Formats: sequence, C-alpha cells, structure tokens
Amino acid sequence: MKKVNIEPGCVSCGSCAAICPHVFKVSKGASVIEGADLEKYAECIKEAADMCPVQVIVVTDSKE
Ligand code: SF4
Repeated sequence: MKKVNIEPGCVSCGSCAAICPHVFKVSKGASVIEGADLEKYAECIKEAADMCPVQVIVVTDSKE
C-alpha cells in the first residue's frame, strides 16, 4: 500500500494537481483526494512529488 503525505510548507502552486489531478487537489494548500487510487496513479504521484517546488509531497511504501 502506498501512502502519500503533504508535509507543512505547501505554497499552493497547483503543480501537483495539474500533473496528477486524480490524486491531488489544491485549495488553500494541497491535499490527497480521499479514495484516490494511489497504485494506479503511482507514476504521476512520483512525478508530482519530484516537481513540487518545496518538496513537501512524501510518498512511502508500507507493506501492510
Ligand atoms: S506541488 Fe507542492 S507546493 Fe505545489 S501545490 Fe502541490 S504540494 Fe503544494
């Protein structure tokens, strides 16, 4: 199972939502859309995390 966290410091640039709109939404800070399919969108989640200007998107793989 993947887990995606947005750490404090998001500047609401909108980049993550533009890159991966099925997973991220941005309004007064980014958040992960509830129920988003994190496995299906793993590629664009990674891309969004790489592109985040303040690097606050943290993706972890848990084995649970
Ligand atoms: S890309 Fe980063 S800074 Fe921009 S809205 Fe998403 S989490 Fe916030």
